[in-house]
Amino acid sequence: MANRYERSQAIFERAKAVIPGGVNSPVRACRSVGTDPAFVAQGDGAAIVDADGNRYLDLIGSWGPLILGHTHPEILEAIKETMASGTTFGAPTEIEVRFAEALRDALPSMEMVRAVSSGTESTMSALRLARGFTGRAKIIKADGGYHGHADCLLVAAGSGAATLGIPGSAGVPEGAARDTIVVPYNDLPAVEQALAGGDVAAVIVEPVAGNMGLVVPAPGYLEGLRAACTKHGTVLIFDEVMTGFRVAWGGAQRLYGVTPDLTTIGKVIGGGLPAAAFGGRADIMQKLAPLGSVYQAGTLSGNPLAMAAGLKTMEILARPGTYERLEHLGTKLGEGLFAAAQAAGVPACLNRVGSMLTLFFCAGPVTDYATAKTADTARFGTFYRRMRERGVFLPPSQFEAMFVSLAHTDEDVQQILEAARGALAD
Ligand SMILES: *Cc1c(COP(=O)(O)O)cnc(C)c1O
Repeated sequence: MANRYERSQAIFERAKAVIPGGVNSPVRACRSVGTDPAFVAQGDGAAIVDADGNRYLDLIGSWGPLILGHTHPEILEAIKETMASGTTFGAPTEIEVRFAEALRDALPSMEMVRAVSSGTESTMSALRLARGFTGRAKIIKADGGYHGHADCLLVAAGSGAATLGIPGSAGVPEGAARDTIVVPYNDLPAVEQALAGGDVAAVIVEPVAGNMGLVVPAPGYLEGLRAACTKHGTVLIFDEVMTGFRVAWGGAQRLYGVTPDLTTIGKVIGGGLPAAAFGGRADIMQKLAPLGSVYQAGTLSGNPLAMAAGLKTMEILARPGTYERLEHLGTKLGEGLFAAAQAAGVPACLNRVGSMLTLFFCAGPVTDYATAKTADTARFGTFYRRMRERGVFLPPSQFEAMFVSLAHTDEDVQQILEAARGALAD
């Protein structure tokens, strides 16, 4: 039988010789699902085609940005049009102002905005700003929360409810981890206790967790964080890099009606190009250079092509019916996947907000990282591989969310569910 992945495998061999692990971001290597990556040749709407010509319905969407699907004609047109006038200047352009205004209009808590090029940059910068603003060093993050790969955020929980961090990666000095307090997600008392000393600069939290698999905020959790941060003069940072314009127009803060002091945002707002931003209360943002004493900069920050793709994405998402459509597709996919698992007698728990969802292979409920880790990752690996054989491209980890896009049709979802029923059988 012909090898369906011959070309991908050949490229992977070359890749491994020049790129560590053959990939430019580790999860792409597919190690946790026990296979090798398919190298992508092209995308089109809801589908991608790999180097061997295999076609897949894509539920990664570049890990969130492609809420409109691949090669959306209006996005391509916006990039082309902007490109004709130059790709970067290192001097301010009007499109950056439009981008900041568009963010402020959709997320009124972002009174002032600074554009950067990645989510990692946005969270790293927002934390420095919060520390500069408060004059405090400590930060609080949730166990299993992912906020990019800055040293102080690559911190693992110790044992206990609220623990001082230990380095979660080689190369992170103890000093960088020491000021990071790690608490379980959805555990408000743990945050309140950690804040009580009055020496915490910021709480950074994904308002819907998406990087331990999807975990929904418990009723009152976000409101409680808001109240506790206000009480202690701590800056509340919502990391909406994944949820911004994904779970709702204006993000999770609009969906749940809770206002953070600072917001970090990325993925969708770049429209498939590298754009991210952080912003919030004007009195805090005015601490940034050149107005204030907190330094932050970027050669390609506010890049016109990325701004154009992001602005066009926001414009399209503002059209009537988009989030209703995403909710419809998300519901259909989520309910269908859960039903398929039940029919197959596989213990499963489905967590979903809008077009973002995770099927955990455990009975659940999954409410934090500890419960997420009870999922059967070997079973997920089998499910992943069988789905890929059946033409569905899932995120290659149990602890990631799948994303539906506006390019997916009801028929696409049917086809994915058909594949899932086959993949879950026996
Ligand atoms: C993806 C992500 C980041 C990091 O963004 P990059 O652009 O990959 O650096 C930060 N926070 C959250 C919540 C994310 O989902």
